[in-house]
Amino acid sequence: MSEWVKGTVVGKHIWTDGLYSIQVDAPMADFTAGQYTKIALDIGTDRVGRPYSLVNAPQDRPLEVLFNEVPGGPLTPRLSELKIGDPVWVAAQAGGIFTLESVQPADTLWLLATGTAIGVYLSILRTAAPWEHFKRVILVHGVRAAADLVYGETLASIAAQRGPQFSLIPAISRETQAQALHGRITDLLTSGALEERAAARIDPESSHVMLCGNSAMIKDAKQILEARGLVRHRRHAPGHYSAEQYH
Ligand SMILES: Cc1cc2nc3c(=O)[nH]c(=O)nc-3n(C[C@H](O)[C@H](O)[C@H](O)COP(=O)(O)OP(=O)(O)OC[C@H]3O[C@@H](n4cnc5c(N)ncnc54)[C@H](O)[C@@H]3O)c2cc1C
Repeated sequence: MSEWVKGTVVGKHIWTDGLYSIQVDAPMADFTAGQYTKIALDIGTDRVGRPYSLVNAPQDRPLEVLFNEVPGGPLTPRLSELKIGDPVWVAAQAGGIFTLESVQPADTLWLLATGTAIGVYLSILRTAAPWEHFKRVILVHGVRAAADLVYGETLASIAAQRGPQFSLIPAISRETQAQALHGRITDLLTSGALEERAAARIDPESSHVMLCGNSAMIKDAKQILEARGLVRHRRHAPGHYSAEQYH
């Protein structure tokens, strides 16, 4: 993933203070939903690149990534200042194995995201695979504040298209909101509130679980899932959950 192609920013959306998505035109190779690319800027004499999950479906262009500005971070304060027409570098090849390839069909696909990790699932949800291989798809988006519940229109259109096969469960940890669960995803898993809201169980017989986001959520969720008998999915040894950690 070290070969770079030239890209141009063709779209930018400011969701809230410090939360952005940008669209980029770049001749990147084909990718599978769930993979990430790298975005880089030349800063001084260095090319500073970081991985970002692709939000657009593999069949759609431009490329799109969602990120939050990490104050003091080498790249994101500069990424957030980009304007339409600005140049960026994009890794020529996508990377990662956080995809539905080789995942066994099951009753329920659980997609658990914290913060910007919602983006990777938007790409997956805009392909045929989840709808063909699972009877239900339950997307859980854990955020601190209601303003971080991004891509509402996209999710509403997926919900309208998929009907009862799709459920979206927002979970807000630092505010209360009528339609959202209150608390962290892992606490809601432990208490049973998540499964109660979804009217579905998480168990090895019926579920595949994807975990994406911060290390605390992933570490705690793995423990909870393994205590219930779910084993980690590997490409050549299919299991019940997969994980991708952003930080
Ligand atoms: C496979 C993979 C995919 C990723 N996809 C995305 C994505 O789609 N969207 C996205 O926003 N980030 C994503 N990241 C994180 C991203 O690559 C950068 O680390 C992040 O954007 C910060 O970049 P930076 O150069 O400003 O700071 P860095 O030097 O990368 O990080 C500075 C500090 O901030 C922490 N940090 C990193 N990311 C975050 C974050 N999102 N929120 C709070 N703290 C953070 C790091 O742990 C570190 O302590 C992904 C990481 C990996 C490994």
